[in-house]
Amino acid sequence: MTRITVTQPLLPPLEEFIPYLQRIWDTRILTNGGQLHQELEAALCAHLGVSHLSLFTNATTALMAAVQVLGLKGEVITTPFSFVAGAHALRRANVQPVFVDVEPRTLNIDPSLIEGAITPRTTAIMAVHCYGNPCAVDAIQAIAERYGLQVLYDAAHAFGVCIDGRSILHAGDLSVLSFHATKVFNTFEGGAIIAPDAATKARIDQLKNFGMKDEVTVDEVGLNGKMSEVHAAFGLLQLRYVDEAIEKRATIARHYRQALSRVRGIECLPDGHQDIPNHSYFPVRVRPDYPLSRDGLYEMLRARDIYARRYFYPLITDFPAYQTLPRGNAATLPVAVHAAREVLCLPIHPALTHDDLVRVIDAITHPLHGSQ
Ligand SMILES: *Cc1c(COP(=O)(O)O)cnc(C)c1O
Repeated sequence: MTRITVTQPLLPPLEEFIPYLQRIWDTRILTNGGQLHQELEAALCAHLGVSHLSLFTNATTALMAAVQVLGLKGEVITTPFSFVAGAHALRRANVQPVFVDVEPRTLNIDPSLIEGAITPRTTAIMAVHCYGNPCAVDAIQAIAERYGLQVLYDAAHAFGVCIDGRSILHAGDLSVLSFHATKVFNTFEGGAIIAPDAATKARIDQLKNFGMKDEVTVDEVGLNGKMSEVHAAFGLLQLRYVDEAIEKRATIARHYRQALSRVRGIECLPDGHQDIPNHSYFPVRVRPDYPLSRDGLYEMLRARDIYARRYFYPLITDFPAYQTLPRGNAATLPVAVHAAREVLCLPIHPALTHDDLVRVIDAITHPLHGSQ
């Protein structure tokens, strides 16, 4: 039996990568916004339907730059049901994350809880489009405008997601994508900030290049967030395959949804209201009427060489650096605490075969049959 993993990176045929590498060898330009970097920014803008995008080495660096560009300080309202990178980006800038609970349906920030967490020190809302399901962006925007707050979206899961034909990446003041190996679209490591206008993109581009305006002028405390030409080249190649990969994910998601609807105690998270989903994850909730707990199911699958992922688990508020913050406790975050205990992300990726899928569904449907 082969191992089934929760995800597998999309890797186009190696020989198709060689011509891109040849271009790098020919020009001897390896980084610093070379030709391939420029081409990938343009190609991604066209693919995603946005106008201003800055590539980064990874989403974490991009989030750090976004926090700086927006000038965030004091407190920022966010959720604990996310990957820790966003909270780290705030803390590294001396900003205090204030955690509010998520909605039970989408596991995105619950807009009805935001106002109660606003203080005179609040400068922004940082929300995550969890599993690529869009946040309640209109409700969040209305609150932000009422209180003069900025909105930063961690859109690491939201590659290509649209609502009413329009990219979700237009929501808020800035959005950050991740192109990490585990994501729907990857450049090995990589990320991007989507900016609303050319001036903001120029500022971001300067910041990611040490804050250098020109050879002899450093305007601010920047960082090195530049994506290399090799990574950009891989992105250009990958972009030719990503739609097909998302199609395959959609087929897998349909199969799961249909087969698991018959399994008592397993509840698929609802599809979001997006008209272009990316099926980046396939989360299910393991309810009390399933014969095993979530961790029991996770372990049983591992025993059958099927690697699902408890994601997100633990909550950010369970990590020592975040435990002691105000509101960072279980009593104020019941929905997130419950989700972190119940949610399991099932294997979904374009290389998952029909036999693999049958094996996963069979194991979940007959959890007590033993592995062989
Ligand atoms: C993957 C991920 C990140 C971090 O992305 P990197 O590119 O690995 O730095 C941040 N936030 C969320 C929600 C993620 O899933």
